[in-house]
Amino acid sequence: MYDLNAHRRATAAETTSRSPARRRDHRSGPTRHGVARHLTARMMIALVLSVSLVPAAAAAQAADRGTVARHAFEAEAPIPSPDAFAALIGAAREQAATAVGDPDSYVIEARFDPGRGTVNGDMRITFVNRTDEALADVVLSLLPNSNDYAGVAIAVDTLRVGGHRIDQPNRGLSEDETSLLVPVSRPLPPGGSIEIAVGFTTTLAPDDDAGNYLELDEPPGTWFLEWWYPILAPYEPSRGWLLAPPVIQTGRAPWGVALYDVTLTMPNDLHAVTTGDLIEERLVGADARRRYVAGPTEAFHAIADEDFTSVSAEVGDSIVRVHADSSEAETARRALTFAEQALAAYSDRFGAYPFRELDIVQTPLKMGMGYSSEGLIVVGSPLSEGYDEDEWDYEPPPFETDPDEVDLVTHEALLAHEVAHQWWGNSVRSDYVAHAFMVEGLTEYVAFTQLEASLGEKVARRVMVDDAVQPYIELLDYEGDEIADRTGRRDLWYATHYGIVYGKGALGFLAINVEIGDAAFDAALRAYAADHAFGVTTPEDLREAFESASGEDLDELWRTWFETAETTPDDVRDLLRAAA
Ligand SMILES: [Zn+2]
Repeated sequence: MYDLNAHRRATAAETTSRSPARRRDHRSGPTRHGVARHLTARMMIALVLSVSLVPAAAAAQAADRGTVARHAFEAEAPIPSPDAFAALIGAAREQAATAVGDPDSYVIEARFDPGRGTVNGDMRITFVNRTDEALADVVLSLLPNSNDYAGVAIAVDTLRVGGHRIDQPNRGLSEDETSLLVPVSRPLPPGGSIEIAVGFTTTLAPDDDAGNYLELDEPPGTWFLEWWYPILAPYEPSRGWLLAPPVIQTGRAPWGVALYDVTLTMPNDLHAVTTGDLIEERLVGADARRRYVAGPTEAFHAIADEDFTSVSAEVGDSIVRVHADSSEAETARRALTFAEQALAAYSDRFGAYPFRELDIVQTPLKMGMGYSSEGLIVVGSPLSEGYDEDEWDYEPPPFETDPDEVDLVTHEALLAHEVAHQWWGNSVRSDYVAHAFMVEGLTEYVAFTQLEASLGEKVARRVMVDDAVQPYIELLDYEGDEIADRTGRRDLWYATHYGIVYGKGALGFLAINVEIGDAAFDAALRAYAADHAFGVTTPEDLREAFESASGEDLDELWRTWFETAETTPDDVRDLLRAAA
């Protein structure tokens, strides 16, 4: 889940003026301001649209370089797989095995060369046809080739399907090079599986202006290896393989979950943080060769940095770590305490966190304030996000005391949100294009309840007003109301994304909580999390969970907040009064 919230963080300011010098300033000198930013929806649209520019030459360049890459799996026998569910704890192992059945799996052997800005990899995907029909081809997504990843590219160098070498593997590339159609020699029947071996070269962004997560930064930088390898495209029974380029700001239909066995080699002086668990580590000259297992997860991401330090704590059977530049040790410790509390509280309320590890990377982000994937969260740094209030129509919040303190509370709100995504959005997934409200609105509201528990009602309420009420009321002013559940309407996204999906969405879940009370609200979410762990849900699943836990018919409430566009500022006021 990408939380690209232009409302409350400096993201927007960085997106518009991201000179390297400015970014360095952010790193070395904490800045003062971090309080609520009042951006209009229109400004947000402009900012979001300003980040997609791609040099088409990058892909071609990568393809050229790829020809010299060595690809191990063409010749070598497969390495033995370790315990496939090793990243999970206790009951989650059985839960996952039942939920995902016989999942797809990835075995990846890759080398990251920060000097050249490349990742050379070999992978074997075992794809299982879980659809009802025989498939004549399988589609791999090459996400970094999309416009969302300026300057980054993946080239497929070699391709084998079911042991047969495919000459000219790039013949199946879509025009925009984000999808590769992989032909299967005989249609793959339902339940059948096939092995696809791919040699690939990923070229990371060559400069600091790439404007995306997956970046090659100037030293001492942070490298994001995100969606850095060819990955099975999402498949929807009604639409087949989804070929359209992904829109990272708004997500898309859920990817399938898979098991991962990844061996990643990189210079030993880089501190690596990844999805899943480290199970082996070996020094090879100046390099470290590290092997990880992960899953079930939508993807395997890695982040590398020269000077990260880590702090960690145990929560139940899991370990939570915060990784940050050594200059941020103090805020990292505070973030750890807060994340620890959130993870423990959510585990109590919604069922135990399923993974052995939760890694949180705190780093200055170019775009976006937070990102949550299974077991791996990235959040922007508190205090280092410079913001010049003169740039925008800015109103300081009335409760402001110490701006740094406000920044830290904002950061804690972000942590509460991203940690909650481990349940809503990561374990229980939904079609994010059509139903983002049930992921982001729910996550946002649950985060407010956690803030209330840890920082008190006054702070939680203030954050809710800043982050949900205010953006929604502003949107009502500027654009009018919109329907939160976008079922059947995949267009008109940016205009409504923040104010509607997060703002109105969160208020809708507050309305449900007020109606059914805390005990039924939590019981519903606990049952929903258990019933749909590692699965994909629809809005009906969520509504039914609330209805069966409370015994109430929530039809009208649900329609008011999520399915109609007739809510007024008075309705919001009434709700806040009822919640007080
Ligand atoms: Zn979110």
